Amino acid sequence: MTWDELAAMEPGLAGLAAEVGRIARGAGRDFCANAAWYGYRDWPGIKPRLVHLVGWSRRGRQRAASGDLFAQLTTMAASSRMEARTAAFAEDIAHGLDALWSDEAYDVAYDHLYDLLPDCRACRCVDAIS
Ligand SMILES: [Zn+2]
Repeated sequence: MTWDELAAMEPGLAGLAAEVGRIARGAGRDFCANAAWYGYRDWPGIKPRLVHLVGWSRRGRQRAASGDLFAQLTTMAASSRMEARTAAFAEDIAHGLDALWSDEAYDVAYDHLYDLLPDCRACRCVDAIS
């Protein structure tokens, strides 16, 4: 499984990659890759949003973008979070997108995006390691 295969299945991944690219270009002399990745204060970070796109915490297709009213209503009708996830998974299976829910998909996407970030420099987590 490759990043390109995943990005073709889930358009949200390209959006996250573009955001990581902007972060990388804007990184100054002080930069913490882990803060950018996990988030801090009101910055949501990359990973907390990645988990909604790939892996077992995936939330399913971007319904607003797809304009799939039936899928939207199905999810809205699901009364619990588990039912919403089951509906999202069933819908992905129907569209041949179930590979997005795998651990492998998560690992590939995680590594690709994290590697786009510059290394930590002059940050507290570098001090903690050295
Ligand atoms: Zn750091």
